[in-house]
Amino acid sequence: MKALSKLYPREGLWMTQAPVPEIGPEDVLIKINKTGICGTDIHIWNWDDWAAETVPVPMITGHEFAGEIVELGRNVTDLTIGQRCSGEGHLIGKTSRQSRAGKFHLDPGTRGIGVNEQGAFAQYLRLPAFNVVPLPDDIPDEIGAILDPLGNAVHTALSFDLIGEDVLITGAGPIGIMAAAVARHAGARHVVITDVNADRLALATKVADVVPVNVTEADLAETVSDLGMKQGFDVGLEMSGNQQALDQMVEAMTMGGRIAMLGIPPGKSPVDWSRIVFKAITIKGVYGREIFETWYKMIAMLQNGLDVSRVITHTFPVDAFEAGFAVMRSGKSGKVVLDWTI
Ligand SMILES: [Zn+2]
Repeated sequence: MKALSKLYPREGLWMTQAPVPEIGPEDVLIKINKTGICGTDIHIWNWDDWAAETVPVPMITGHEFAGEIVELGRNVTDLTIGQRCSGEGHLIGKTSRQSRAGKFHLDPGTRGIGVNEQGAFAQYLRLPAFNVVPLPDDIPDEIGAILDPLGNAVHTALSFDLIGEDVLITGAGPIGIMAAAVARHAGARHVVITDVNADRLALATKVADVVPVNVTEADLAETVSDLGMKQGFDVGLEMSGNQQALDQMVEAMTMGGRIAMLGIPPGKSPVDWSRIVFKAITIKGVYGREIFETWYKMIAMLQNGLDVSRVITHTFPVDAFEAGFAVMRSGKSGKVVLDWTI
């Protein structure tokens, strides 16, 4: 089968031939139709310090996918051949305290497809049946291929009650933009999104009913007063991993505000804890998606009017993957989808 692999420990990815994976009794084999390029895949392409430390070579990359089941392990009874599906790319153990409590997303032994295990940028993917998420007929493959990052957005956004709240999102990458759409869908009053990239802010306003603020040229405090907000933001969603953005967020929060952090700072970063204490702010770190409550909620919201389709700005046939990665690395795209069927 065709597979997009990290073959050598240096910049780039290579299209190669790999054997179709053999499945175990609890697995399914999925024929891949569409995949999404993630920021994680860009780290792996660039072969930065994180990638070099984390990813063994050779490795088939990719973890955002939609496809259909073509083979069932002998113990799999609740899925069918031909079922369209996406799936959770975090492979979890079942023996940790967290897993046994049903908090699968907190299992300390989690392994990621396309990072620690052979991934989804291939014509076929082996996945435990447990990880499969069937796709309803009204959710197309291109949306199925971005449910993983939409799940990050949903998990982060739904960390706190949003109804009637004023929400600040720092970072207008695809996940920040989708989180804005989710916050709006979930009943927030004002949703403000900040970035330093004008293209991304413009895309945010196409996808969601959101107020964009380019912090290189505008003052966030002015936006707050233009909106008639009496105090600061009630809920903050930090999606940028940028120290200044987090500082700005803490500054802009109201007393007792709540912050969910998905962005990953590049290293240790200084924090003025006194402001967090005096404002009585709650901070929650967010990783991955809740397995499988986030999947349930996002599919339900998509079926009930949540529309994130415009966050997909480019689709390429997989043989043009280099163009797809180039546009993704330019910072001028939303989600980029690779089509494995043409
Ligand atoms: Zn991803």
